[in-house]
Amino acid sequence: MILDGKSLAGRIQAELQVESAQFLQSHKFRPCLATVLVGEDPASAVYIRSKGRACERLGFESRHHPLPASTSQQELLELVEELNADEGVHGILVQMPLPDGLDSWQVLAAIDPHKDVDGFHPDNVGLLALKRPRFISCTPRGIMALLDESGVDPSGRRVTVVGRSAIVGLPVALLLIHANATVRVVHSRTRREDLQAAVEEAEILVVAVGRPGFVPGGWVREGAVVIDVGINRLPPEEEGKRGRLVGDVEFEAAEQRAAAITPVPGGVGPMTISMLMRNTLDAARLKAGI
Ligand code: NDP
Repeated sequence: MILDGKSLAGRIQAELQVESAQFLQSHKFRPCLATVLVGEDPASAVYIRSKGRACERLGFESRHHPLPASTSQQELLELVEELNADEGVHGILVQMPLPDGLDSWQVLAAIDPHKDVDGFHPDNVGLLALKRPRFISCTPRGIMALLDESGVDPSGRRVTVVGRSAIVGLPVALLLIHANATVRVVHSRTRREDLQAAVEEAEILVVAVGRPGFVPGGWVREGAVVIDVGINRLPPEEEGKRGRLVGDVEFEAAEQRAAAITPVPGGVGPMTISMLMRNTLDAARLKAGI
């Protein structure tokens, strides 16, 4: 079975469209997402544009703040403070990564935790760890929704998470622990033989490393559920063309063994943006006191 994140994300956005219209009717204001992009990284610009388009589709307001790469830490913090104080803004997203020289930790910690729709603020990470989540970061939330929608209950299952980043690996491991899975987390300091053993035993495997084909398909357990978070662009086959996007798992071989697997593209990626929109509506509800 292919875990079709694209079609689930479409269904979630259709639900959000209805909820957003109901919200406007009841509260007389629209959920509003403010985005900040420092510099001109092309991939970041694509992400920001797609977030703006999603807001438009769902009837949310979006306000974009492009800043030059030369922006100082102080200037960026001042903008964050302005957005924190702006009653009309419910969600704030500062696109990562920031250009060299800017301290992303300090910027993320400066965002009002009640507007932190990315779920990266230390308060929100702490609340998540303590199983009292306010905002759950979007990719981990999307992974859990994908599992849930596909009828995969992690309770009591052996789960391996490859990668421990603050954006994906660590929060998804926490969510899976809270969903009563038995979780192993492996990373770059894990011994190769332990990594393979952890992958081979996994009934549910989540891979977020950022290296094409990092997990050989032959390591995947028969009947496993495989969530491939990686997005890697291969070198172009022909000059002038863009290379293909692939995940962290060798898809063709893994598909033969897995009971269910996410494709790349079209698996976890589209879920991430839908969860950002859900978090933005949740932030507007917080503002409305519901
Ligand atoms: P990071 O680079 O922040 O983290 C990568 C993780 O992989 C680290 O924990 C690292 O370990 C681990 N790792 C690196 N090399 C190895 C190795 N040889 N063996 C085992 N573990 C290793 O990446 P992200 O978590 O931000 O992203 C991972 C991938 O997911 C990327 O391809 C990214 O593009 C994609 N992504 C996709 C999203 C989506 O919406 N689908 C959203 C976010 C990311 P250590 O901690 O020890 O360094």
